Amino acid sequence: MDLDTPLQYVKGIGPARAAMLGAKGLATISDLLYYAPFRYEDRRNVKTIAKLAPGEKAAVIARVASAKMSGFKRRALGLFEVVFQDGSGAELLARWFHGERYADSLTPETRVAIFGKVEWDRASGARLMVQPEVEILSDEEDGEATLHSGRVVAVYEAASKISTRVFRSLLNRILGEVQLPDDPLPESVRGRMELPELAQAITWVHNPPQDAEIKLLNEFRHPAQTRLIFDEFFWLECGLAFKKNKAREASGISFSVTPRVREQIKLMLPYKPTGAQRKVVQEIADDMKRPHPMNRLLQGDVGSGKTMVAAQAAVIAIENGYQVAVLAPTEILAAQHYAYFRRLLEKIGYRVVMLTGSAGAKEKRQIKQLIEDGWAQVAVGTHALLQEDVKFSNAGLAIVDEQHRFGVRQRLELIRKGEQPDVLAMTATPIPRTLALTIYGDLDVSTIDELPPGRKPIVTKHVMENAVEGVYSFIAQEVRAGRQAYVVYPVVEETESSAEIKAAEKMFMHLSEKVFPGVAVGLLHGRMSAGDKETAMREFKTGATKILVATTVIEVGVDVPNASVMVIEQAERFGLAQIHQLRGRVGRGAQQSYCVLVTGKMSDIACERIRTLVESNDGFYIAEMDMRLRGPGEFFGTRQSGIPGLRLADLMRDSDVLEMARTEAARLLEERNPDEMRAVVKYIQEHWQRRYGLVQVG
Ligand code: ADP
Ligand code: MG
Repeated sequence: MDLDTPLQYVKGIGPARAAMLGAKGLATISDLLYYAPFRYEDRRNVKTIAKLAPGEKAAVIARVASAKMSGFKRRALGLFEVVFQDGSGAELLARWFHGERYADSLTPETRVAIFGKVEWDRASGARLMVQPEVEILSDEEDGEATLHSGRVVAVYEAASKISTRVFRSLLNRILGEVQLPDDPLPESVRGRMELPELAQAITWVHNPPQDAEIKLLNEFRHPAQTRLIFDEFFWLECGLAFKKNKAREASGISFSVTPRVREQIKLMLPYKPTGAQRKVVQEIADDMKRPHPMNRLLQGDVGSGKTMVAAQAAVIAIENGYQVAVLAPTEILAAQHYAYFRRLLEKIGYRVVMLTGSAGAKEKRQIKQLIEDGWAQVAVGTHALLQEDVKFSNAGLAIVDEQHRFGVRQRLELIRKGEQPDVLAMTATPIPRTLALTIYGDLDVSTIDELPPGRKPIVTKHVMENAVEGVYSFIAQEVRAGRQAYVVYPVVEETESSAEIKAAEKMFMHLSEKVFPGVAVGLLHGRMSAGDKETAMREFKTGATKILVATTVIEVGVDVPNASVMVIEQAERFGLAQIHQLRGRVGRGAQQSYCVLVTGKMSDIACERIRTLVESNDGFYIAEMDMRLRGPGEFFGTRQSGIPGLRLADLMRDSDVLEMARTEAARLLEERNPDEMRAVVKYIQEHWQRRYGLVQVG
């Protein structure tokens, strides 16, 4: 039996259980060793029933004397009551609400370990435990009881029919029989971090020392746990660092920033750039000058002026004779970028085209031709630009907006046809630092941390839906003052169902006919044709319509500086980051802007979200809160931790460990101790490359 032994060959597992474990991603002994308990229980206090005192927490080994599911009236609660005896003369009553799941297994004579807080049952005078933990003990293995009680025990998440008790037994046996892995962590790192050896850590995690502090264990702060958490981050960070180094060394285009480039940029710029914009343009230009591919993420809150920065990078590429691809996640946004880049770039003599999925076949063919010929110097588009049959004659720079929305970053590789173009990704969804370190650990990051001058912070208010009339008169007042307003309904673009569209359409009718009869109201939703969407946007942009009723299709990037009010209906149904994005559609001009969040009755979490938004305009703070309230997985639209390969580590709980792992990984690469490096590269290649999806490490 070794670490790679498939679980079905392990005694006590067999094919059926192996399948259940397999469904949890546990295939080998090694997987099982890393299947860490999610909780620990202090069952050191084992007593006979007669000795149980009210108020204490204790464990008891006993047999079921009788069990009953309670009668008709209480059925809804599924009240399940069991009387236990252990030969000490007293009885213990246990009570579970929704206890159906126990009813089958706790039949008379079943032997169990029960663990919980002791009370007196006034009605019967017996000792009572409400909702205790219970584990069924098998009769054959008498010594087993001592594995499950009388000590600090690990509690595992069950896998189908494999209970925590079975996990405990299995791991106990495996730990006794298998040769635990050698420690791959460089000795120097382990020493500095004062971490236990790997084998020791694995043993302790399943079988904590009996003097271990239960609180420490349950907060995942025990050195054994820290060791395993550190490992996950450390190998990830090493892998990312290697990848980044490698990309840095690959050959790419070396652009030159000539006086002519500066001249063109000066001619193009409609405003004086902010200090922050100047700083990031410098960072980008420095990257572009190096003869290696740029991989840079430009982050900045909504409205911070990222597009103007990107346009300057485009000038550098074009003046060096290269083409620029601009990728946007939606057609609306692509159309807007197209308009923006044309406005800036055509003025200084460049040719800009747009390619989206909704263009006609003939038009598409023509545009593709213009791109292939090299006539088009800038090609703006959606996913359509990434299609195989789009060939650039000489792509030098890819600008990717809201790149997280593209999901798979690899798709970008498609555009890396021929030479290695530089990549500038832009995002207005600030990424909490811990996430940025793991997800974008291999990118360089530039941050615009200053808004263009003259912006007034948006005032955000919360209004209950029964007071929405007041909001409407406020809109009317702003419109009379020459401003414009958005009214947004909670429909997610990708899933806009016809029912939800109808709701938006109905509201549109209601608002345009009843509430604002004399005002031009527009409608925009994801199910409209590209042409209709464009018309709706254009009419709002030119001020032909004053109020735009919309779904979240306007979430990203839409830019109408004259709009001063953003009303979000049923705001409790939106996510934090999403509302912040929506809110960023206003406050783009010099006038005071407002965001009104209209809600019905709310859950606690929804209240918390709304409160955060009313109190803060800071995208980074909001992103942090969003991750806290939703968990990083949800936050990033991926499952679980959001980072493949993290089993025990938790980005929020363990952010300090992550920072340490990152520091240590950087140090390792800096010191370049050849023996350590060789061992580390080998270990990552063998164990972590696939797990983290790191392509070609080392
Ligand atoms: P982002 O893409 O970061 O959300 P945009 O690039 O769309 O922001 O810019 C938001 C608005 O601010 C636009 O109307 C843009 O023209 C304007 N803007 C950008 N930079 C400046 C600047 N330096 N001074 C004044 N206005 C600016
Ligand atoms: Mg933008």
